[in-house]
Formats: sequence, structure tokens, C-alpha cells
Amino acid sequence: MQSIRQLYKIGYGPSSSHTMGPARAIIEVRKRALDANRLEVVLFNSLALTGQGHLTIDCIKDASFPLPVDVSNRLDKERHPNTLIIRSYKDEILLNEYEVYSVGGGDIVFKDEKVEFPLIYPHHKFKEIKAYCREQHLTLHDYVYRFEGEDIKKFLNQVYLSMNEAINRGITTAGVLPGPLKVTRKAPFLYNKTIHHEPSEVKESRLVSSYAFAVSEENASGGIIVTAPTCGACGVLPAVIRYMAEKHPFITSERVINALAVAGLIGNLIKTNASISGAVCGCQAEIGSACSMAAAAHATLLNLSINQIEYASEIALEHHLGLTCDPVNGFVQIPCIERNAVAALRAIDACGLAYFLTDTRKISFDVVVKTMYETGLDMNDSYKETSKGGLATNYIDEDDVNCW
Ligand code: SF4
Repeated sequence: MQSIRQLYKIGYGPSSSHTMGPARAIIEVRKRALDANRLEVVLFNSLALTGQGHLTIDCIKDASFPLPVDVSNRLDKERHPNTLIIRSYKDEILLNEYEVYSVGGGDIVFKDEKVEFPLIYPHHKFKEIKAYCREQHLTLHDYVYRFEGEDIKKFLNQVYLSMNEAINRGITTAGVLPGPLKVTRKAPFLYNKTIHHEPSEVKESRLVSSYAFAVSEENASGGIIVTAPTCGACGVLPAVIRYMAEKHPFITSERVINALAVAGLIGNLIKTNASISGAVCGCQAEIGSACSMAAAAHATLLNLSINQIEYASEIALEHHLGLTCDPVNGFVQIPCIERNAVAALRAIDACGLAYFLTDTRKISFDVVVKTMYETGLDMNDSYKETSKGGLATNYIDEDDVNCW
């Protein structure tokens, strides 16, 4: 597996596969064609169908600047769901042409080229990692530090700071999100709302949700967030960690870093053995993975055992199996933002169940990852970030939806 540095990326939203990945592809192609004075980009499939709502074209123009760029859209079922063909020209003479895949979480792969980052972990399955940890008397976070090096802690600290900054901006920014849906930002309302005699469990749900909304609304506005594992699902993990760190004085910053390390390991296993891309496997791969990472982080914050961490992550992913990706108008807003909040709450519940039921479980983390991948491959393309099915097609802008 690659370093978890390739999983957590600090950058601009709203979509890791539709903005970060294409921007990185353009920047890389420009490095390979320094003489170019014009670019041409063809977007395929999910990029073509939801690129406008995901701001793909804006970010391609930004990454190409000051070169002019022509962008066109095509559908071709034979190609990867997030394919770009990028051509560079000098005085209308073709310099080069690349086929690039945006594979999720901001990562890109050039056709027929080796993956750009080295594999630093010797194990690829949770079962192998668990056996190694047992033999070496390691915790999961120590396992991460052994192969990443101690330096990873500084990186994770930066990740945590960025996550918290996104929360702080989100809970203090009111208004309406960009785009035609006119979605109101709800994080400040959720954060500040106090209900007379509010039961503590309601207050806690509201706080967790406000943090998830805050980060997701920042993402939807093109703000700086951390992919965890993607932009669309970036609110789940920060919400759970912030809530826990504020609630429990015993949660030190060192424990938070450990939690991010373990969450990163879980995300990495899913990315390696399945996919974290909504265009490849539906929303189960984005929000499901984020929930699984957050459940692992929550369990690590509470110092639970490796088996309990595994079970919490497994429950969190298992109960997102089959979740479709159907963003309305192609914007990472409906259902994405609310879905982050629900997944954050689910992550906490998954950990609670794992705490009590670990010894009775029948499904391993590796099995549920394999199942998620197979389910995603079987899923109809309408439900894989194409906005051709589900809420994306049934959505009606009804002013009277709250009337009775
Ligand atoms: S529905 Fe899920 S996978 Fe699709 S864009 Fe929204 S968060 Fe991402």
C-alpha cells in the first residue's frame, strides 16, 4: 500500500476525483510539454456528466492558466468512468496526447504508466496487518509509524489543523452555497441552536452534525478541506474527532494523531482492495469508507483493541453497502452534505456496538471491503456519479415541501 499521505490531501473542494484529480493531471501534462501554448481536454463519462456541477471545467481552466484550453465532453462505456484525454499543442502542432484516469481521492493514473507513488507497506489486507501486530506486539497506530516513519506525525498534525480550520470557518459562515440549488448553509444554525431543556443526546447529535455540515459546506463552496478519503465525504472524520476531543479531556493531541493514523490505514486498505471513488463504486465507496475510517478513529480515541477497531470499521462500511451516488444537478450538495452528518453519527454508533459485540462477530473487515467492491462493480452506471438516476432525477425544487 502507498503512504497515507496519498490519502489525506489538503486542497480545494468540491470533488477530489472531479477537481483535484483533473487539476493534477493538467499540471503534470504541462510539465511534460513546456513549449505548449494551447491545451485540449476531452472529459468522459462521470466527468462529462457531472463536471459542470462539480466545477471540473473551472478547475481545468485554473490549472491551464495562462494557456487557453478547449474542453469537450464524451460518453464511452469502454473507458474508465473518470477519463481525461489531454492534448497539448504548440502553434497548432500536436506535442503530446495523454489518457489519464482520475481514480478517486485526487489520485491520477496515466495510461500504461506505473503508479507514481511507492508502496511502503508490506501488507495489503487487514488480516495480515493484524497478524503482524500480534506477532510484533504493536498497536495499529504503531504499525503505521513503523512503516511511515515518525515524520508522519507532523503531517497528521497538519491534517488535523486543516480539518479544524474547515470546521471553524463552516460553523461561522452563513449564506447560500454556490449553484442553482440555492442550498442554505446550515452548520451555524445547527451549532448555535440551543433548545430549552435539550436532552444531552440530542445536543450531542446536533454538535456532531454541525461539524460535519461545516466541513461539507466549506467543500461545496470550494473551500480548503482534507480528503478523508474524498472531498465529497470530507466532513465525517473531522466531525467525529472534533466532537470526541471536545467532549473528553483525556483525549490528548497525541491520541488524535494516533486516531488519524489508524483511520488513514483503514481508508488505505479500502482504496487498495476496492475503491474510494463514487464514479467507480457509488457513494458506499466515499461515505461508506469515510464512516469506516471515522469508526476506526473513534475506537482508537477510546483505546479499544485491534479486534474492536476492526469490528467498528466493518460495521460502519457494511451498513453503507449499496449506497448510490446521485448528486442533484451534479453538485456535491444534495444528498452529500446531509449524508456526511448521518455517517458521522453512524460511525459513533458502530463503535458503540463493536465495544460490546466484538466476540460474536462473523464478518471480517476484509470481507466487507471485497463485498463493497463487488457491489460497486455490479451497480448500474446511473448510480455512480453520473446524476442519471436516484435523487438526481427525482428531485423537484418544491417550495411547499415543508407545508402540511
Ligand atoms: S452522493 Fe456520495 S459519492 Fe456522490 S458526490 Fe455525493 S458524497 Fe460523493
